[in-house]
Amino acid sequence: MADRLVLLGTKGGPALRPGGPWPTSSLLEIGGRSVVVDCGLGVTRALTEAGVGLKTLDLVFITHLHSDHVLELGPLLHTAWTAGLDKTVRVYGPAGTGHYWQRFLQSMEFDIEIRIGDEGRPDLRDLVIVEEFAEGPVMETDGLAVGALRVDHPPVTECFALRFDSGGKSVVFSADTALFPPLAGFAKGASMLVHEAMLEEGIERLVARTGNGARLKEHLLASHTLAADAGRIAADAGVGHLVLHHLIPADDPEVAENHWIDAVRTNWNGPLTIGRDGLAFDLPAKGTGG
Ligand SMILES: [Zn+2]
Ligand SMILES: [Zn+2]
Repeated sequence: MADRLVLLGTKGGPALRPGGPWPTSSLLEIGGRSVVVDCGLGVTRALTEAGVGLKTLDLVFITHLHSDHVLELGPLLHTAWTAGLDKTVRVYGPAGTGHYWQRFLQSMEFDIEIRIGDEGRPDLRDLVIVEEFAEGPVMETDGLAVGALRVDHPPVTECFALRFDSGGKSVVFSADTALFPPLAGFAKGASMLVHEAMLEEGIERLVARTGNGARLKEHLLASHTLAADAGRIAADAGVGHLVLHHLIPADDPEVAENHWIDAVRTNWNGPLTIGRDGLAFDLPAKGTGG
């Protein structure tokens, strides 16, 4: 299995619009492990479209419990189970992830019980282990090391950037955050930085369309990072490649790819990709560290 990153869903926020992109989820295949990062709506379908057999589900990481990152976690695990999952899946998430999973299982109790009895399936409750993490090292196994950094995403306090290191390659996900300079140290020399991004000129039109005016705009500006500032973090970290993810706005016909590129280029001259659903990359080697 080649090391690769697939962007499964790239829009910021939970709302869907006809023909538009889907909420946040990613697939990272690194060092022989398969990792799903965030489970926004559409993750199950996008994984199958990326050629991933659901019964091979292995590791899942959730950055925080906003619905555009966790809404389809339960349905993904349940669907993997009906697809023949027969070995343990580990789910790493912030405090509250275990509560979500227990309540999901309760909501599906009728179906789970009937499939165990009627179809002879193993008990889904025994196949999933949820591990809640805080800032610091999260896990290290089979050459894959994962660390977490608490980022700045008010009013959510349990929101974590994640760094995956394996075989000299490393990928960092910013999670949802306002401009957070410590991310540059956390992402130092990474092969790839997958950073959330927002474009100022699109925000006014977005809040007008969504219809929650001032409060929504206030939340966006306090909790997310402008594209130019994502470029600044990439430059300070000296990463090999910057990928913009969790785009706000994601489906504004007046915003073209070159608007994003122009904004980032004020601070970052290195390799750059503006995310879109289904985009896949081979992982480059480490960044220059410069
Ligand atoms: Zn989000
Ligand atoms: Zn969020």
